[in-house]
Amino acid sequence: ATPTALMVGTGRGAQLGILIRGPEVLESTRAVDTVVLDKTGTVTTGRMALVAVRPVPGQDADEALRLAAAVEHASSHPVALAVAAAAPAPLPGVEDVREVPGQGVAAVVEGRQVVVGRPSFLAGRGLELPRALPEPADGHTPVLVGWEGEARALLEVADMPRETSAEAIRALRSLGLTPLLLTGDQWSVAEAVAAQVGIDEVVAEVLPEEKATVVAKLQAEGRVVAMVGDGVNDAAALAMADLGLAMSTGTDAAMAAADLTLVGGDLRAAATAVRLSRRTLATIK
Ligand code: ADP
Ligand code: MG
Repeated sequence: ATPTALMVGTGRGAQLGILIRGPEVLESTRAVDTVVLDKTGTVTTGRMALVAVRPVPGQDADEALRLAAAVEHASSHPVALAVAAAAPAPLPGVEDVREVPGQGVAAVVEGRQVVVGRPSFLAGRGLELPRALPEPADGHTPVLVGWEGEARALLEVADMPRETSAEAIRALRSLGLTPLLLTGDQWSVAEAVAAQVGIDEVVAEVLPEEKATVVAKLQAEGRVVAMVGDGVNDAAALAMADLGLAMSTGTDAAMAAADLTLVGGDLRAAATAVRLSRRTLATIK
């Protein structure tokens, strides 16, 4: 391919809200047939809000939220920001903070070992999940908080699809690409979001390190994969994909691992990137 024509494509990309790592990236865009999309912060805004605190019978909702917020204050995960923002200041101090990306956070608060995160994270740290633990409403992400051996409350957080996501998915389909939603979140939440934006294929409840494995498995099936993500937990999958696209609204780690960055958090730019690359390469031939 002529470098000059590729450079023209690169410059045009910048005008359209796509930052391209280098001209050679446009080449890898051409053969893509599958677009794997991270959910939180990519298809959705990632600006989560706490919508309910539901304690196990006998537990105090305010106390559960106060302790959960203190622990989550140490994390910058969208779930953590929502929980930390929902409790009145001042929050108690925390010690010995341990965060496991894509799972949750543990810390010592007022002498108690408090654990906040996805249900499997609490279970994995030996906390009991009582049978009286409430179930989250459809489409709400469950976050559990527990201490002294037991989960004490369910915190429900919710997030909305970006306004442009459904249109972006339609645009990707019209280019002949198959979208797939990939998330560390629960199946019920993932399926609700997928239905809202028009995605049929879903892989949920994956740990951060498994995201790259999912991409590799698709590649082993002969699919040429673009991955769109925003989080630290997406970086390995972005690097593994034939084409990695990062949301500019996400983390530096995601942008560093990606071939393209979509400026302004607009997923429609993913379709624009594919269209641009096909057009640019067509003029070269
Ligand atoms: P996605 O893959 O959709 O971007 P993540 O992998 O970042 O989602 O997170 C997966 C799940 O892990 C979240 O939906 C939440 O249940 C849980 N989680 C991750 N970090 C935290 C945290 N700091 N506090 C509570 N829960 C968390
Ligand atoms: Mg994400």
